[in-house]
Amino acid sequence: MTVLLLSTLAASLSPSGVLHTMVGFVLAAGVFELYLDVRQHLNFRVKKLPPQLVGVIEEKDFWQSQEYSLAKSRFGFVQSLFSLTESVCFLLFGALPFVWSLAGKVMAAASIDPDRELVRSLVASIIYDFYEGLVGIPFGLYQHFVLEERFGFNKMTLKQFFVDLGKQSLLDLVLSGPLMVALLWLVKRRVGGEFFFLWVWLLVIGFMFLVNLIYPTLLAPLFNKFTKLPPGRVRSAIEELAAHFPLTEVYQMDGSTRSAHSNNKRVVLYDTLLAQLSLGPLLAVLMHEVGHWLHGHLWKRLGVLALVMLGMLALFARAVNLPVLYTALGFHNERPVVVGLASFFLLAGPAMHLLGFFSNLWSRRFEYQADANAAAAGMSQDLGDGLVAISVQNKGNMNPDWLYSMYHYSHPTLLERLRALGWQPRPKSPVGAPAERTAAQLMAEDAPRPDAGAPRGAAPAGRGGAN
Ligand SMILES: [Zn+2]
Repeated sequence: MTVLLLSTLAASLSPSGVLHTMVGFVLAAGVFELYLDVRQHLNFRVKKLPPQLVGVIEEKDFWQSQEYSLAKSRFGFVQSLFSLTESVCFLLFGALPFVWSLAGKVMAAASIDPDRELVRSLVASIIYDFYEGLVGIPFGLYQHFVLEERFGFNKMTLKQFFVDLGKQSLLDLVLSGPLMVALLWLVKRRVGGEFFFLWVWLLVIGFMFLVNLIYPTLLAPLFNKFTKLPPGRVRSAIEELAAHFPLTEVYQMDGSTRSAHSNNKRVVLYDTLLAQLSLGPLLAVLMHEVGHWLHGHLWKRLGVLALVMLGMLALFARAVNLPVLYTALGFHNERPVVVGLASFFLLAGPAMHLLGFFSNLWSRRFEYQADANAAAAGMSQDLGDGLVAISVQNKGNMNPDWLYSMYHYSHPTLLERLRALGWQPRPKSPVGAPAERTAAQLMAEDAPRPDAGAPRGAAPAGRGGAN
């Protein structure tokens, strides 16, 4: 609705009026997000353990997570201010026509006819991505080698950083280059007449499903090493749990060579997770993942995304011929489809932010459902222990601002999840009592060792559940 209204409005406005509307949208969103950052920043400055966290985490852990979050937050301000200024300047000073004419010159120099719009769009987008990549390097370097390094999270070498960057850029080009050209071609040729947007939609959906299909087997291994979990107590326990579900293979992934954060988005266990959790919480986390699968969360998300995209594309089909979409961005003599798309999404900015907000709201419901699946299997206490352990070791945000988390978070906060689980803090184990062994320690004990004299449990001591 918003988008339709805006495009009708856009038709009656002057190019500069439309441009200023776009700038206004970008600025409004940027300023609102900065406001949220400030609110959250103030919450990170709290030094004293909030009463609701007493008994859940140690004061020292809270303090460390606040320190880490503050450092990230300061860096975030610099990044946000930079990118907001950049976006506004790009719009006001005509960065798009500049890149477009640069692409034309590059083509002319290579004796390619600059009037070939699809090739020119591809060249322009490569130039733009190259610029973005270059500008991103200092930020990336600071993040990994100064910020994360300081808190012991960085496991990446400088070489690995650049190798990953190269791989990612190549992959982007190989995957999204052909998609973009095909999409622009469909629009340019109006394949399917006035229903050309249906073909565009089918193309995008097909691409989305393809990437989801090949991601785990073909793409992810480009960046991380996957190994089958070795036989032993951990694998047996997981297999026993998985027997009721079509989970065929259990892998571990060497996420920790890059970063010591854990993430359990796929039913692939990061080795950091194995090092952080004891067996009970690990199985509870797996039950949470099984919950996502049982409820078909992935397919529901993809389905709704497909519908939203259909709506957006249908609106774009109505707007694509409006001259003001092109003149607003400084294109007076030509109407490249790619510029029309950029204009359209700039004007749809507020709607996109709203969609993002609802998507997070919905995603948090899914997380509660997945947690409830673990709870139904009698694992609430273990899952709660696991969530606390992960949060402590990742120095996660323990004092979230309600508006900030409502807008940005795809997961409920730690306290919200513990409350929903009915989790109770465990009584403290007596001083000197051995800590519960982590899954990684169990695996090390179970591993066949050619050298019988080697010390047992060589894995680093993790926190695990205190049960
Ligand atoms: Zn989840």
